[in-house]
Amino acid sequence: MSRQTPAPTIVLFRRDLRVDDNAALATAADRGAPVVALYVLDEETKDLRAMGAASRWWLHHSLAALGRRLGQTGVNLFLARGRTGEVVAKAIAASGADWVLWNRRYDPSEAAVDARLKAGLREKGLTAQSFDGALLHEPLLLKTGSGGFYKVYTPFWKAMTDKVHVRDPIDPPGRVDGWQGELGSLSLNELDLVPTKPDWAQGLRQTWRPGEEGAQARLQEFIERDLAGYERRRDFPSRLATSRLSPHLAFGEITPFQIFASLRRSKSSGTSKFRSEVGWREFSYHLLFHNPGLAQRNFRPEFDAMSWRDDKRALRAWQHGLTGYPIVDAGMRELWRTGWMHNRVRMIAASFLIKDLMIDWRHGEKWFWDTLVDADAANNAASWQWVAGSGADAAPYFRIFNPVLQGEKFDPQGDYVRGQIPEIGALPDRYIHRPWEAPASLLQDSKIELGKTYPTPLVDHGAARERALIVYQSMKDGS
Ligand code: FAD
Repeated sequence: MSRQTPAPTIVLFRRDLRVDDNAALATAADRGAPVVALYVLDEETKDLRAMGAASRWWLHHSLAALGRRLGQTGVNLFLARGRTGEVVAKAIAASGADWVLWNRRYDPSEAAVDARLKAGLREKGLTAQSFDGALLHEPLLLKTGSGGFYKVYTPFWKAMTDKVHVRDPIDPPGRVDGWQGELGSLSLNELDLVPTKPDWAQGLRQTWRPGEEGAQARLQEFIERDLAGYERRRDFPSRLATSRLSPHLAFGEITPFQIFASLRRSKSSGTSKFRSEVGWREFSYHLLFHNPGLAQRNFRPEFDAMSWRDDKRALRAWQHGLTGYPIVDAGMRELWRTGWMHNRVRMIAASFLIKDLMIDWRHGEKWFWDTLVDADAANNAASWQWVAGSGADAAPYFRIFNPVLQGEKFDPQGDYVRGQIPEIGALPDRYIHRPWEAPASLLQDSKIELGKTYPTPLVDHGAARERALIVYQSMKDGS
């Protein structure tokens, strides 16, 4: 009697580009049927937000790394472009698969695509199953006492800590029976993800190592070098004392379960602060899950009445790091060059756009979405609304960052600014965050011609602050 091999299992990869701690892949491997690993670049399904340019660069390299890792287990990674549902249907027809597995996504527009896919497959009598991995908590299950969702971080994090069991990471499968048929897969280059004309990705290549091996190396280096003291040093951009795991998390090359497991035995002083920062990511997703329009609509509707300025010249100056405020410009240039910006500087740069320039936070959100390698539907939208004051548990609108004082506090020797803006690097510490106050002779000696080699301030911060407060007051008064 011949034993029949079961029909293949399709494992869909999305923002979970890893082999370790991958419940969908592990389940497929346990089943013992041939595994079809499939990535679909879905830029056609309505409502799905197209990835920004920096994320596309990351995706290219992350898929390359995933393909290599899967290859080591015996599985081919098939690449396709099109509507997820249609591509999966074709893959089922070509391979005869009767199981489709994936790890859950929590962006409501993506979750809706997955829910439709699951219902459609089950209607056809196929097995469709999804798993956890991206988040420590299930946003649907963690509820307040009154059955709603959390709008304030502290009780959210307390509930997470009290109620959510953080499971251990799932072991990677050993040798897997990879399906050996043909799906008409595209090559990685055919996905057309990396910039060529021009190739602006040099800074990204120099800075990052996409893929789960890069993610694990980053985590270990962070734990060994920077976790002790993280709580004190995380706010100083020149120290590079944060984990820089955000793009790896955004692409699911590492899971919060793996991070928490690595911290379990840690006695380092920064451990609980670091855990709670990862908790902000959980909170952002909690908010996004329950507020699908988080990137488009003010969480607090009273902000709909805010009179934003339409100033394209100022927006461009901000985008290109030419506002004349060194800490803001340094951040925006770091972003442009590396696809990442330090959290403290993100807050300062965002505050400057929203409050000093009075430009709608959604313009900033879009720019970050396009330029960040860690662009993340939940973290980006929630953080922009946090700075704007329009979000849940947000910084009050009237708390307006002074870019000079923030620079002097968090970059006291100007190392960060000098690294990003070499043209003002010769200024002494005293003027590095306020070049316009430097004596003419000093500027001349430093080869700085304000307005030519480096801009004069786009706005006067004091006056801009007054303006922002007046506009905010009239929003509140309804006048
Ligand atoms: P670490 O300090 O090492 O923290 C570890 C992880 O915790 C991060 O990788 C991240 O996943 C999470 N985390 C840390 N701080 C926050 C936070 N404030 N909110 C949510 N999660 C957090 N983060 C993104 O991942 N993607 C974005 O698109 C994004 N956009 C932002 C936009 C603005 C205007 C602001 C102010 C912040 C934004 N953040 C975003 C949050 C934060 O700046 C980054 O997560 C952090 O700088 C990433 O660096 P890290 O990995 O070294 O952080």
